[in-house]
Amino acid sequence: MTSFQNLHDQIQESFTKTAANIYSYHDQENQKAVFEQLRNVVEKNCIINTKLREANNVIERISTLHSRDNEGSQFEDILVKFKSEMDKINPDVSKNRYLVDFDRQVKELLKDADGGNNDNNDEDGDDDLQFTQDTVNVIDPFTKKRMTDPVKNKTCGHVYDRESVTAMLKVNPRTRCPVMGCGSKEFITINNLEADIVLRTRLLKKKV
Ligand SMILES: [Zn+2]
Repeated sequence: MTSFQNLHDQIQESFTKTAANIYSYHDQENQKAVFEQLRNVVEKNCIINTKLREANNVIERISTLHSRDNEGSQFEDILVKFKSEMDKINPDVSKNRYLVDFDRQVKELLKDADGGNNDNNDEDGDDDLQFTQDTVNVIDPFTKKRMTDPVKNKTCGHVYDRESVTAMLKVNPRTRCPVMGCGSKEFITINNLEADIVLRTRLLKKKV
């Protein structure tokens, strides 16, 4: 994984955590507008990243062009060409995995707010969620302690505390999912872990 992508992943995670905070601290009526704003930022971020990746190709194309006329073009001309080439890049990020992931996580968050009720008439807020200790696992399988920053293994769906799984992978990068009966035989990788913002929100609200 390049450090660029690594950085992108970290930014993305701060977006999803922001989404969780919006859900926790904004009134239900304001949430929709604020989620919309945040989604715009995520979308712009995807566009910028796509453009940055393309920039290298543009630079290569322009430098090939200019090495042909060895008279040496003016720097300003090159800059103008570069800018106009960059402006032409107009990526469609609707299928971008970061944007798709963001939408999915916000959807899960809002679904969780309904508490499984499909009628949105939950006037008295969200203090009556039906989730109990029986249905949601809040214990980290490595330390057997209550999790505070849960991350989901995208390969099998099991959840660990970020701190313990990161520490575990440092000691032994060839660590498999420790949950009993887990069907995945793959080693856990950091790339395959994503913040479980739904569970994190519930944990913070002491709902589980
Ligand atoms: Zn598992």
